[in-house]
Amino acid sequence: MIEIKDKHNCVGCEACGAVCPKECISFNYDSEGFVYPVVDKAFCIDCSRCDKVCPVINRYPSSLPRSVYAAYSNNEDIRRLSSSGGVFYELARSVFSTGGTVFAVRFDKDWNPVYDRCERLEDIIPFLGSKYVQAYPGDTFANIKTLLKNGKTVMFVGSPCYVAALRRFLKKEYDNLLAVDFICHGVPGTKVWQKFRSCYADISDLRNVGFRDKSNGWRQYSLLLEKKNDEKLIFSLKNNLYQKGLISGLTLRPSCYKCPAKEFRSMSDITLGDFWGVENVVKIENDNKGVSLITINSRKGESFYEKADIYSLRVDYPKALKYNARLIESAHINGKREKFFNDIDKKDILENLEENLRYGYLDKKLHKYRLKVYTIKRALHLLKNKQRE
Ligand SMILES: Cc1cc2nc3c(=O)[nH]c(=O)nc-3n(C[C@H](O)[C@H](O)[C@H](O)COP(=O)(O)OP(=O)(O)OC[C@H]3O[C@@H](n4cnc5c(N)ncnc54)[C@H](O)[C@@H]3O)c2cc1C
Ligand code: SF4
Ligand code: SF4
Ligand code: SF4
Repeated sequence: MIEIKDKHNCVGCEACGAVCPKECISFNYDSEGFVYPVVDKAFCIDCSRCDKVCPVINRYPSSLPRSVYAAYSNNEDIRRLSSSGGVFYELARSVFSTGGTVFAVRFDKDWNPVYDRCERLEDIIPFLGSKYVQAYPGDTFANIKTLLKNGKTVMFVGSPCYVAALRRFLKKEYDNLLAVDFICHGVPGTKVWQKFRSCYADISDLRNVGFRDKSNGWRQYSLLLEKKNDEKLIFSLKNNLYQKGLISGLTLRPSCYKCPAKEFRSMSDITLGDFWGVENVVKIENDNKGVSLITINSRKGESFYEKADIYSLRVDYPKALKYNARLIESAHINGKREKFFNDIDKKDILENLEENLRYGYLDKKLHKYRLKVYTIKRALHLLKNKQRE
């Protein structure tokens, strides 16, 4: 029976709840704003289905990708609306052309990210773009299983830990499933996001939220809050406290500091990411419109990718890995994380973020040391792993 004694050991995938025959697992928010399972022991029959499906208890082996690309959509509008190169859109387009269904993440009416299905290309726009907040699967895994059994092609896009959970939940390989994950830094919870959002706009006043607005270029990591009265608030990385909290490891879910799905342990077919450092890896136009780093991890991934209309340049994996540590290394916990969450309900969120995001001399030293350690990690990863069949 699932029992969360250490919060690092739960990614919040809700797969345990989805398999429980007694429906005795519920999910509650903790004081940091992340969801965890709780078992009603009075109804539990000790069948251990929940333990068997858990992607933290049962990890897949690590591997190397089969091929790696610098890529983007040939459609300029789509590239602008997407976080990186718009490859998600092109894969979705290809899946729809065969009558398939896509499961991905859009905002709900309260500007929280939610999983939903999409059946038509004309409905896909709300699903474009990264929402840097944890979305929970709900009944997504069960719905996917039903469609797969009925022979429908399904593309699921999720964090690596959720793709691993879906694989465990399905128990067998389906030729009609395309499992896509992304290079994952980690996720903040809805509590931090909603507190931050409320400093600038009421839910009902917002017309659009973009975590990766490209008005000032792809590399700026700009957050856009667009109001119904046409006012636009754009926070570029320098003054984007929300994004800084995420990148500096202050606001993430505990499991993200010990991610169970790095090094391609998710068993995804394709991985999408931003191609940081692309200018050092391959000759490509430096137009700051967004380039995706794509890794193809399985033969099935290869065949889906070949059918999509994507501008692609093949690149050397070790070179790409040098600039994209999150493929294999978890985010580092910020030493002030505990203090930040202790104060989450006591202090103004902006003050709390600002106070705990100061970067000092010791942080710089630590950063340099971590870069050296990463060189060793990278070498070991390349040495010990093989490609999947
Ligand atoms: C929480 C998070 C952390 C990330 N961390 C990194 C990183 O460290 N390094 C890196 O290179 N790339 C990271 N990415 C991936 C990157 O931001 C882009 O999503 C990816 O490059 C795909 O871009 P695109 O232009 O092809 O598609 P986009 O149009 O940007 O598509 C984004 C896809 O991600 C899905 N999605 C959006 N938000 C969520 C969410 N909260 N949970 C699950 N799925 C979601 C959408 O439904 C869509 O399918 C992260 C993404 C997320 C959501
Ligand atoms: S052991 Fe079985 S009955 Fe008990 S919580 Fe887990 S899945 Fe449910
Ligand atoms: S990781 Fe998923 S399956 Fe495991 S305990 Fe947490 S919610 Fe349940
Ligand atoms: S960092 Fe790992 S545990 Fe955290 S959301 Fe991403 S895949 Fe899941």
